[in-house]
Amino acid sequence: MPKFLSKSRYISGLQCLKYLWFQFNRKKEIPGYTSETLEIFKQGRIVGELAHRLYPDGIKITRDWQPAGMSKKSNLALQQKKPLFEAGFIYKNFYAIADILVPNDDGSWDLIEVKSSTKVKDENLQDTAFQKFTYEGAGIKIKKCFLMHINNEYVKEGKIDPKEYFKKEDITSLVDELLPGIEKEADAMLEAIGQNDFPDIKVGPHCDSPYECPMQDLCWKFLPEDNVFILHRGSKSAYDLMERGILKLADIPSDFDLNDHHLIQVKAHGSGKAHIDKEGIGEFLSELKYPLYFLDFETIAPAIPIYDQTRPYEDVPFQYSLHVVEKEGAKPKHYSYLAPGDVDPRPEILKKLKKLLGDSGSIVAYNSGYEVKCLKYAARAYPEFEKWVEEIEGRMIDLWVPFRKFFYYHPAQAGSGSMKKVLPALTGVTYDGMEIGDGGTARFEYMRVTFGDGIKEDDRQKVRGALEKYCELDTKGMIDILRALGDLVGTK
Ligand code: SF4
Repeated sequence: MPKFLSKSRYISGLQCLKYLWFQFNRKKEIPGYTSETLEIFKQGRIVGELAHRLYPDGIKITRDWQPAGMSKKSNLALQQKKPLFEAGFIYKNFYAIADILVPNDDGSWDLIEVKSSTKVKDENLQDTAFQKFTYEGAGIKIKKCFLMHINNEYVKEGKIDPKEYFKKEDITSLVDELLPGIEKEADAMLEAIGQNDFPDIKVGPHCDSPYECPMQDLCWKFLPEDNVFILHRGSKSAYDLMERGILKLADIPSDFDLNDHHLIQVKAHGSGKAHIDKEGIGEFLSELKYPLYFLDFETIAPAIPIYDQTRPYEDVPFQYSLHVVEKEGAKPKHYSYLAPGDVDPRPEILKKLKKLLGDSGSIVAYNSGYEVKCLKYAARAYPEFEKWVEEIEGRMIDLWVPFRKFFYYHPAQAGSGSMKKVLPALTGVTYDGMEIGDGGTARFEYMRVTFGDGIKEDDRQKVRGALEKYCELDTKGMIDILRALGDLVGTK
């Protein structure tokens, strides 16, 4: 049976021949996709289907898993001279299924690739070039190539209007520039996948670009603990060091140029002890004013807006957790909200928070710019809250600051200032064992049980319970972090 290169495999091959080899030869060993990646794929499919509405007389070619069968069906459909969705054609070892083909009066066709991004990216040009190359090889004259992507300025008002939702850009000349190189690239790929063993490709920046490679756990497992890749935002230095054969932080030569944060890391990992800048922490803590409000949102950001007055990928909170500490030493009071169903949660969240957050006191959030952004977006749709959001912005305190500025750094953070790393390092409390233990899963599960079909009530309630626990730990964890920082500098 011939080995066919599909568009996605061609793109994988451009990124890394080793990854491509595994896809053809040892696919079972490639780790599965994360729930977040699956959600991205799902959104992509939904966006693709929405684009079909722009061509009401279009014909969808039903999927045949054999390229030859698909090509036969697609060739028959061509004769109808109507827009075709997902028509598949073969040329040599190339197999392409383009999103939309639109007939022109002169017998040629326009090729449209639909993407759920909000702009044209380099990798989009590569995959459209692959489609054009294959289609033309199969005897279909392609006149123009378009990329149809999401218009990020679109604001939903009533039913989604695909004409406004999408932007269509003519990328013909950019695609044509890439055509001459395709066959050579493909030959190298076909040769590589025909070998008994995988090509010896070293890890590098390509492991994350243009896509996060799912093989990273396998390929990067040679790294020792305390390795140079945990240098905070230091991938350039880390690759330089790796080139020189230096993998451990402890082995970095003293004359190697490291910034202040990296020097803190090297020292902390060398001694196994936390770096503590008491003055910096003290200054940060001195900004806090009681009552203290610890706030955290969980959000969704669908490619196709769900609620009126939202844009594609706009972060919409569906849940908050709020702990309030009235005065020093007081027992925290907990408040929470989890949107009960598929109604727009924003008015209720704004109304409740306006009441709960009062007129004074610091509002503490981890990476508080995100909470502010969500509130501003929500107030854009409900302008009666705009002034209030402006007012509370001045009360926000970002608990990320002491860690982002390295006032505190513990080796257990492994280069990260995220709360998921800081909380256990500083307090011993972890997210381990939680049914929902990160924001991506929270978003995915909320979408699934709220908008998915055929969800059983006990599944829905279980997820909602897990969401409540997860969000509560985020704000409870902030209290614990603040207390631990206070202990370090001798304040309460
Ligand atoms: S992790 Fe990197 S080296 Fe390994 S297969 Fe993926 S891209 Fe290639």
